Amino acid sequence: MKDIKPPYAFASTEALDSAQLLGAPWRSPRPQQLELPIGVKGPKAMKGAEALGLGSVGDLLGHFPHRHEDRGEVLSIGELKSGQDATIEVEVRSVETRRAWKRNGLILTVATVADHTGPLEAVWFNQPWVGRYLKAGQRLVLHGRYEGKARFRVVEHEGGGAGASEVTTGIVPVHPASDGLPPRKLRELVAAARTAVADITEPLWAGLLVSLGMPDRPAAIDAIHFPRTEADYEVARRRLAFDELLGLQLDLLGRRVHKAGALPAPVVAGDKGLTTDWVASLPFSLTGDQLAAVETITAELASETPMTRLLMGEVGSGKTVVALHGLLRAVESGHQGMLMAPTETLASQHLRSLEGLLGGTPVSFSLLTGSTSAAQRRETLDRFETGELSILIGTHALLEPDVRPARLALCVVDEQHRFGVRQRERLSSKGPEGKQPHVLHMTATPIPRTLALAAYGDLQTLAIRELPSGRQPVATHIVEGAPARARAYERIREEVAAGGRVFVVCPLVEASEALEASAATEEYDRLREGPLKGLRLGLLHGRMSSAEKELAMEAFSDGDTEVLVSTTVIEVGVDVPEATVMMVENAERFGLAQLHQLRGRVGRGSAGGVCLLCGSKAARRLVAMEESSDGFVLAELDLELRGEGELTGVRQSGLPRLKAASLPADLEILEQANKVAKEILATDPDLLTPKYALLGMLVSEPEPELSADRIVA
Ligand code: ADP
Ligand code: MG
Repeated sequence: MKDIKPPYAFASTEALDSAQLLGAPWRSPRPQQLELPIGVKGPKAMKGAEALGLGSVGDLLGHFPHRHEDRGEVLSIGELKSGQDATIEVEVRSVETRRAWKRNGLILTVATVADHTGPLEAVWFNQPWVGRYLKAGQRLVLHGRYEGKARFRVVEHEGGGAGASEVTTGIVPVHPASDGLPPRKLRELVAAARTAVADITEPLWAGLLVSLGMPDRPAAIDAIHFPRTEADYEVARRRLAFDELLGLQLDLLGRRVHKAGALPAPVVAGDKGLTTDWVASLPFSLTGDQLAAVETITAELASETPMTRLLMGEVGSGKTVVALHGLLRAVESGHQGMLMAPTETLASQHLRSLEGLLGGTPVSFSLLTGSTSAAQRRETLDRFETGELSILIGTHALLEPDVRPARLALCVVDEQHRFGVRQRERLSSKGPEGKQPHVLHMTATPIPRTLALAAYGDLQTLAIRELPSGRQPVATHIVEGAPARARAYERIREEVAAGGRVFVVCPLVEASEALEASAATEEYDRLREGPLKGLRLGLLHGRMSSAEKELAMEAFSDGDTEVLVSTTVIEVGVDVPEATVMMVENAERFGLAQLHQLRGRVGRGSAGGVCLLCGSKAARRLVAMEESSDGFVLAELDLELRGEGELTGVRQSGLPRLKAASLPADLEILEQANKVAKEILATDPDLLTPKYALLGMLVSEPEPELSADRIVA
């Protein structure tokens, strides 16, 4: 602390003295220090660093440990007890590498080491390179187990000597590692980078830090790697979680502010003759929730501010009817609409329901998917471009640049979580000159509040909780063991005899459509020749052409087949009112949200239904399915059981992988971050005020988009 005159020139001598007494650090961040290379040597280690994305000192400090180990203090050899896990600091006397004579191929490296209390034999298994670089006289810190009889089995070792014990004893970090860069090496590198912590900039202004009661960022980064106590660690982690979530919220909400400011939406107003007549012509009356949703959407469509709404509701709760009302509003005001679904099966299904629901109206609509013929496609696009065609239904094909509606006012996106952020943005670009369309997302997978906040900032939602009257709840049973299975097949026969139809869903095979298809085919053969002999079975899987799939679906919905053996291609939105049984093989492989979706396929008519989940009665997910039929409750539980990274659609929603925060556990921090972000953006959307100027460093680049072609919900 010498030569500190200039910056303190105007401070009182007293203040200066007390700062010195408290040992306040003299700090001047030099962020460029963080750009320095991390200094790994050797091709293997360099590759390892690259695999982890660690190029600079800053990267290294941002590479948070995923856990810590409490190594305790260094013991002397004389203190070791047989069977004890311990850390010792020793000097190498001699080294020898040999092949264990009994066990095949096992390579032992044995070093005689010693400290002031005596010698010991340290043993490494199958790490011949250790023998090559250990030298007599070298100091080492060894972690491992004392096996008794002067033999110590080494789990991990690092260089000893001055300062070593600070890094290698007590609570030590274990960082996510790679082949060339083991945790031990990473720990050393991070320890070496530790001095650069002082060069980290504090992005938050002091007043906020004080009101949050959080440590500054440099201290938090230091403590997340090398905490002195568990409590230290948690305080540091919370601070870094806050930064992470604040960055996310600023990004999400900021984008919204800018987007909202950018382009207005077409105003959908005027005569309501068409929609009024249409609602009156429906064979049912809308439920209270449907009416409320229709009213909100109608009001928002009438404004220049682009609508972005998420309509959530159980399968069969009548979302499509609500969406269709919006599309018809667009049409009767002289505009056009689009309805986009994630799969061809779903798009065709929407076409069919529009055929049913719009039969009595003069509204024109058409389908566009990847399998639409070139000639048909050309004609449809021409009609859409001239405005002659009012509603276009389709898959991702709707995102193609040659889809150029004349007066698009509303896009409805079904099962929105299957589309990426950028795909959704591409939809927005299809509005008329200088305008962007309103967007209505629909999902049958309710999004827990945590996730809605984290992934969307705060997407405005509309919920349909009330099921149309006459719908029966679906009884759910876990089928475990052969007798239960036999009863299940019996139940299937009874249901078919009573006119019902049955889905049998085959196990999910992660990332292999081919395996999934062959498993379904096998199950189909097995059931046809065995337990369900005599019934009419159909088969549906992702390896079939879309024409074949369509045929299989049609045969099932017409009743030509009574049992449909299928992979998860049927998962979303398929509507067969006669279906009364949903049997799911290996149900434990599915997520809760997905099981709930599957169950939603049955009990859609007046006959009620039954859901048979093959699996263990001990599986929490399956028990939850037995106990609850509320999709909103199950969605929260799903998040809890699987963690945010796993949850359906999270990755596709553009939520970056979180390093310090953990959801839903950190909901409270998330809410704080959301609140702070809103306050900041309300007064200064471009972060121009000096006290906000450093916040930009918390906002990360969006991750690359995933393909939505085959995402199993
Ligand atoms: P979702 O899109 O939410 O899965 P749909 O809109 O496809 O649900 O509706 C499912 C079925 O229920 C359709 O056959 C639809 O005609 C019917 N339906 C929709 N709303 C009602 C209602 N209020 N009363 C009775 N039946 C309804
Ligand atoms: Mg639907």
